[in-house]
Amino acid sequence: MAFSVTLPSGVEWTPQFADHIAEEKCIGCGRCFRVCGRDVLELVGITEDGDRIAMTLGDDEDDEYEKKVMTIAHPENCVGCEACAKICPKKCYTHAPA
Ligand code: SF4
Ligand code: SF4
Repeated sequence: MAFSVTLPSGVEWTPQFADHIAEEKCIGCGRCFRVCGRDVLELVGITEDGDRIAMTLGDDEDDEYEKKVMTIAHPENCVGCEACAKICPKKCYTHAPA
């Protein structure tokens, strides 16, 4: 059975943990990174050769990369709030209960 908690309002809440980011849709905008306060996400630059390099948001070396995508680097830190999915303009996220 999925893990759930009862909120003070009496409403039952089932956290939906970040499970997958669809890289083909991601534009690397960083919106999700900015709303997540849990150190779950990491921006990755993909080079012409397909190498993947962890980068800092606002990095000046943007030009070196073919594409930038958000990744779930530390899923264990996720609290299942779904703020990332709500702010994502490209609907990249899939969430799942524990
Ligand atoms: S669900 Fe919440 S804690 Fe988890 S990655 Fe998204 S914003 Fe961060
Ligand atoms: S908000 Fe969506 S499009 Fe932007 S970096 Fe995050 S996953 Fe990618």
